[in-house]
Amino acid sequence: MRQTLVLGRLFGVRIGVHVSWLAVYAFVTYALARVLPMPPGAEAIGVAALGALALFASVLAHELAHALVARRFGVRTEGITLFLLGGVATLAEEPRTPRADAAIALAGPAMSATLAVLAFALQLALDRFLAGGLGSALAVAATYVFLANAVLAAFNLLPAYPMDGGRVLRALLWRARRSRGREGATTIAARVGMAFALLFVTAGVFAAAATREPTFAWYAVLGAFLLRQAWTQQRHARAAAAPPPRADVAAAPAAA
Ligand SMILES: [Zn+2]
Repeated sequence: MRQTLVLGRLFGVRIGVHVSWLAVYAFVTYALARVLPMPPGAEAIGVAALGALALFASVLAHELAHALVARRFGVRTEGITLFLLGGVATLAEEPRTPRADAAIALAGPAMSATLAVLAFALQLALDRFLAGGLGSALAVAATYVFLANAVLAAFNLLPAYPMDGGRVLRALLWRARRSRGREGATTIAARVGMAFALLFVTAGVFAAAATREPTFAWYAVLGAFLLRQAWTQQRHARAAAAPPPRADVAAAPAAA
């Protein structure tokens, strides 16, 4: 992705932030600061910025989980980029077996589910031992991090290729239809992905128009992004060129 700031390397993987992520960071901080049980001011902004940073770390951990499991299966990751809708891990090549494909795809949601449990436990602990003032504000931030990770795990497991669930679907098709191999499986999974993407666009536009709630427009943007990705990947399956990046989507920031 162009307009990407490279932050450095983690476990040997290049980590970058697309400029669009900075807008997400600012927006999450703003939205979270408004719902914190504390008067507006520097302290509220500080807690909200911490929550936004935890979202950043959560998406990064999700992508790193993909990258590290990919490495175990001998697949190199060229880089991880956080962007407007979530995160992208660019693998240097496609997994060689359906098992590797499924394992790499499931690693991200498994990491997010684990982080969701940890954030939930943190929220309970804060409520119990640090109730009132800063403790209660931190508990709200922890609840946000819990929700963000739960959505990262659940939403990406939808069988909408190229999201993680769609890759698991591809791995299953790949294994079941050995003769047609990965290319045939990718084509079918990408068509299912395009159907989901169109559903997101349609539902997002109608819901935003009906409720005048801009959050729903995010699903339309997400759908358009997924549609383009699925389309590219379907074409790629035939061309057998270098693999396109695997994309993960985070929750609508306004969900805070
Ligand atoms: Zn993922």
